[in-house]
Amino acid sequence: MTEALHTGAVIGILGGGQLGRMLAVAAARLGFRCHIYEPAANPPAGDVAHAVTTAGYDDTAALAAFAAAVDVVTYEFENIPTAALDLLETLRPIRPNRRALAVSQDRIAEKEFLTGLGLRVAPFQAVTTAADLDAAMARIGLPAILKTTRLGYDGKGQSRIMILAEAPAALDALQGAAGVLEGFVPFTQEVSVIAARGLKGEVAAYDPGENVHRGGILHTTTVPARLTPGFRSDAVLTAARILNALDYVGVLGVELFVTPEGLIVNEIAPRVHNSGHWTQNGCAVDQFEQHIRAVAGWPLGDGSRHADVTMENLIGDDIARVPALARERGTALHLYGKAEARPGRKMGHVNRVRP
Ligand code: AMP
Repeated sequence: MTEALHTGAVIGILGGGQLGRMLAVAAARLGFRCHIYEPAANPPAGDVAHAVTTAGYDDTAALAAFAAAVDVVTYEFENIPTAALDLLETLRPIRPNRRALAVSQDRIAEKEFLTGLGLRVAPFQAVTTAADLDAAMARIGLPAILKTTRLGYDGKGQSRIMILAEAPAALDALQGAAGVLEGFVPFTQEVSVIAARGLKGEVAAYDPGENVHRGGILHTTTVPARLTPGFRSDAVLTAARILNALDYVGVLGVELFVTPEGLIVNEIAPRVHNSGHWTQNGCAVDQFEQHIRAVAGWPLGDGSRHADVTMENLIGDDIARVPALARERGTALHLYGKAEARPGRKMGHVNRVRP
């Protein structure tokens, strides 16, 4: 399918969280319908979608029926089981493609891909046993971070090792899963670039944002990031390199560490990204619409930044601040409709637009 999709076409989204919800709203603005596929009941995206399939990723009949009901398949999270994708791929185009998913599902494959492009990553070494960890610490040094190679997000599945005595507990935390030891990068800032590539290969990048994490979870993203003009163009060029190398279609998030010696890629996310939520109130075309445009074969939209914005995530009990936030001037609320506010759960975000 290389034709652009028309009004009424159905975009299938694997995953029904807040990213799927905001993608579905953007798709509706362009006249498309979204069909959400999500194993959990009552997903946030279900409230705003045309159709929802509640089924597991091992349910081949449900996957086939979903594929038959949609024109193109995209996703809002990267940990989709390979077998489900093998089946879907025979029935409908998947955008972004399988390689982008394979690379980002595995931290070691990701780092090898990035270094193969000549990009810099933190020193790393695969670790499964105590002997591997000893060898990796001897080579990389401390402090370091031990991460699971797969299925990690929001700082989950990772432990810092500041001193040797902390190594056994970090290894235990892997619970036998394959791991990767990463050297600790003494960064001055964390920034990310959200960029898109269209079906014909055109690339558009949003202005880099500066990220602050709390407890491993993104707390704020501020644009413009405090970057030298040289680093700003390096950041954008890095994202474009990755998009082209993957023959990517859709929006990609690239997280970078800024060091005096240059930029180091932390990780890539083959989807719309939390650090790109500021685009909803800072650009004519936000990251969600940009992703829908790309996967629908439309021209990319104008993502130039028309305002300074700080995005703040509302996590867990932060949701209680909504009545006060709703009275703030210059503040746009984006709530995800989640009933229960558990600690660490992303409930919504605000974009504060600065004059
Ligand atoms: P990740 O899940 O890999 O994005 O890690 C979450 C956060 O932990 C990052 O945004 C950083 O703040 C921190 N972090 C992860 N890896 C490293 C590293 N190699 N060096 C320094 N900080 C790191």
